[in-house]
Amino acid sequence: MRYFTGPWPQGKRGAVCLSFDCDFAYAYTRAPRGAVNPPDGSDLINKRPRSLSGYSRGLYGLHVGLPRILDFLAREGLPATFFVPSANIERYPSVFQSIQRAGHELAAHGHEHENLAELRDDPAAEAAILQASLTSFRRHLAIAPAGYRSPAWDMNAHSPKLLQQAGFLYDSSLFAGEAPYSMEVYDPSVSVLELPIDWALDDAAYYLFLKPPASMAQYHDPDEVARIWQAELDGIVGHGGVFTLTCHPSVIGRHHRMAILAALVAHARLRGDVWFARMAEVAAHVRQGWQAAA
Ligand SMILES: [Zn+2]
Repeated sequence: MRYFTGPWPQGKRGAVCLSFDCDFAYAYTRAPRGAVNPPDGSDLINKRPRSLSGYSRGLYGLHVGLPRILDFLAREGLPATFFVPSANIERYPSVFQSIQRAGHELAAHGHEHENLAELRDDPAAEAAILQASLTSFRRHLAIAPAGYRSPAWDMNAHSPKLLQQAGFLYDSSLFAGEAPYSMEVYDPSVSVLELPIDWALDDAAYYLFLKPPASMAQYHDPDEVARIWQAELDGIVGHGGVFTLTCHPSVIGRHHRMAILAALVAHARLRGDVWFARMAEVAAHVRQGWQAAA
């Protein structure tokens, strides 16, 4: 197992990536397979949840959480990476165009936040979803996204190869380290980089409240979450790795949770040895480093 632990740019000791998954309503509602999904979102209101609850929680993320995050990043002068189910790009193209204009990275996150564990026997369907994503990114943002994150981090054994075939430079869905590594550990023919994640570094693990029988996070004291994230950042950066924080506008956007994010950034800044970067920059740097060493 080969991990990249530096050297990092500007003589920094490790990287910190702030990432935001713009799931909106898809965090709370599920698309039935094979459903017809009009781009105006009327299906989200009328068919899928059969209630306004999940849809309205998504709208909180879109109209309250996301602007709050973007203001915070602008005030701090920090870059971030936004993973987006491409159906949301179809619905709200101008929102994501403005994120792009602000200098942030946009990356793929399914079309309607499909569960890849359920597609483990249907790689053709999974490949079609990737193509739908690429089409939306091309049409509305005029880019091919460098990065991918599987919805709910549920990858299957086919996924790495499909990502490679679709031209992705990196993935951020798997758990096998605290520093970048190659997905060849899952499939020897795949060189897509993995920028690893963990549930402990995800706001959903602490604050995504779903009614039973689904999972139900207990709400946590923000000071407790701040201590966990800061200890992980110190450990990961101290070992030359990449600290990847995953947040959701509908979740982190509440006032007491934005305070955790602010405390984390202040803590990282105080260290003085952290490279804040978009994930595509980290992936490009690692690839360059490995090519130079080869
Ligand atoms: Zn998601």
